[in-house]
Amino acid sequence: MQTATLQFTEFPYERPDLDAISTEFRETLEQFKKAANPDLAFRTLEALYTVRNNFESMREIASIRYTIDTRDPFYEAEQGYFDREQPRFAGLINAYYEALLASPHRAALEARFGSQLVNMARLVIKTYSPEIVADLQEENELTTAYRKIKASASILFDGEQRNLMAMMAFLRHKDRDVRRRAADAYWNFMTVNQGEMDRIFHELVKVRHSIATKLGYTNYVQLGYDRLGRTDYGSVEVARFRKQVLEEVVPLASAIKKKQQERIGVDTLKFYDEEYMFRSGNPEPLGDPEWIMEEGRKMYEELCPETEEFIHYMLDARLMDLVTKPGKASGGYCTYIHNHQAPFIFSNFNGTAMDIFVLTHEAGHAFQVYQSRHFPFNEYNWPTMEACEIHSMSMEFFTWPWMERFFGPSADKFRYMHLLKALLFLPYGVAVDEFQHFVYENHNATADERAAAWKSIEQRYLPHKDYDGNAYLESGRAWQMQSHIYEVPFYYIDYTLAQICAFQFWAKAEDDREKALADYVRLCEAGGSKPFLELVKFSGLDSPFEEGTVASSLGRISAWLSKVDDLALETA
Ligand code: ZN
Repeated sequence: MQTATLQFTEFPYERPDLDAISTEFRETLEQFKKAANPDLAFRTLEALYTVRNNFESMREIASIRYTIDTRDPFYEAEQGYFDREQPRFAGLINAYYEALLASPHRAALEARFGSQLVNMARLVIKTYSPEIVADLQEENELTTAYRKIKASASILFDGEQRNLMAMMAFLRHKDRDVRRRAADAYWNFMTVNQGEMDRIFHELVKVRHSIATKLGYTNYVQLGYDRLGRTDYGSVEVARFRKQVLEEVVPLASAIKKKQQERIGVDTLKFYDEEYMFRSGNPEPLGDPEWIMEEGRKMYEELCPETEEFIHYMLDARLMDLVTKPGKASGGYCTYIHNHQAPFIFSNFNGTAMDIFVLTHEAGHAFQVYQSRHFPFNEYNWPTMEACEIHSMSMEFFTWPWMERFFGPSADKFRYMHLLKALLFLPYGVAVDEFQHFVYENHNATADERAAAWKSIEQRYLPHKDYDGNAYLESGRAWQMQSHIYEVPFYYIDYTLAQICAFQFWAKAEDDREKALADYVRLCEAGGSKPFLELVKFSGLDSPFEEGTVASSLGRISAWLSKVDDLALETA
C-alpha cells in the first residue's frame, strides 16, 4: 500500500529555539574540528546539517505561509522572528565555514564532494567581518526605504487609484493616447520622488564603498561579484560579454524596433509604444487559472519522465499556490524546504500570458531543485543565480510545443513575442550592468554625473529610445525604476548570461529535442555542485564569455524570426 504524500498545509511548524540550536551547532562543530579522520568529519557534518536544515525549513515554511496570507497574525509574528534572528543564525554558518576551511580533512572532503563548497565558504568569509555589521544594517534600511517609495505609489488614472504594476498594463493599451497618458502618470510619480531616490542611492553607494574598503577591497565592484558567489569569472569577462552584445545584438534590436513601428502603424516609436507589440493585442490564454493549471499538469506529464514525476509530486503535496487572492503578497517566487525535499512555487495568476511564463519559468526553477535534492549539502541544492536562470529560461523554451493548448491559433504569436522580448532584453540588461560598474568605480560621482553616465550608456545600447521630451527620462534617470540596481548590485547581468545559454538549449531542441532535454536534465541534477562556467560546459553549452558565442546563438534566433510573417500574426 502506498502512503499518502504529506501535503504542504500538513508540514509541521514550530518556532525553532535559536539558543538551543546555537548550543547544539557549536558542540557539533567542536566534534567536527576534532574528527580523527575524513569519515568521522563527514558524519559530524551530516549532524551539523540536520540542525541547520531544521532551522531553515521552519524559516521557509513560515515565510511561505506568511506570503500566502499576509493578514495572518501568527505567521506575521513568525516572519518577524526570523527577520530578527537571521543575522545570529548567519553567524553560526560563518563559524562552520571557518572550521571547514581550517579542517585538516578539507582536501579529503573536496576529493569526495568537489571544491565548490569550499570555494563558496571562502567567499562568504571574505565578504563578512563584525566590523561591517552597522553598515549592513544601514544598507538594509536604505533598500527598504527605496521599496517603500515604490510601494507607496497610488496614481489616480482613469478614475481609479493604481499602483505601479497596474499602471504597466496600460502601456499595452491599443489607444495610443491612453499609453501616452499612462506613461506620463507613471514617470510623473518617479519625477516627484527623484530627489529622494537620488539621495537613497547616493547613501547606498557610500555605504557599499565603505563596506568594501573595510573588508580590504579597493572598491565595491569585486565585493559585489564575491557576494554573488562568482568563483570562476570576473569583471573582465563580463566586459567582454557586454561588447559582444553591443556589436551583435544592438543592430538587430534596432531593426526589430523598426519593424514593430511599422506593424503597429506609428510614425516614430515613442517610449510609450514599446510594450504595444501587436495592433490585434497580446495573445491571451484560452481559459481561467484553474484551466491553465490543469493543462500545465498534462504538459509536464508529457514533456519527459522526470517532469512527470516532478509535477505529480508538486500536485500531490500541494506545493504550488498560484492564483491571486485577497491578503496574498504580490509577485512570484520559487523556494525549497529541505526537510521535506519540497520545492514551492508561489505566484499571482491573473489570466494573462504572464501566467504561462510563471508556469514554465518558476517550474523550471522548481524542477531543478527537485532534481538536485539528493545532495547532502544545502549549498549544492541551488547554483549561483546566473546558472539558476538557465533552468527557468530554458524550460520556457522546452514547453513551446504545448503552446497551442494554451493559446490556440495565437500560439505562433506567443512564440514570436517570447523570442523578441528575450532578445530585446539583452541590450537593456547589459546597459544596467555597465552603469553599475561606472557607479562603483566612481563612488564619488554626484547624482547628476551618474545620470549623465546612464544617458551615454543608454545611447550606445538602446539607440532607438525616444523619450519624447520627458524631462525625467531625458535627464538619464530611467534606471531608478530598476529595483536590482538598488537592492542587489551586479545581479542583473545574470539574466542576460542565462538567456544566451537558454538560446543554445532552444537551438539544440530545434535540432534534436531528446538530446537537448537529456543535457538539460543533467544540468538540473548537477544543482550547485559546480560553478557557473563548469555547469555550462558540463551541459554541453558554450560559455557566453567566449568570443563568437553571442553571434552564433543569435544567428539561429534571427534566422527563425526572419521567417515569421509578423503582419500575418496580426490576424492570428
Ligand atoms: Zn527566475
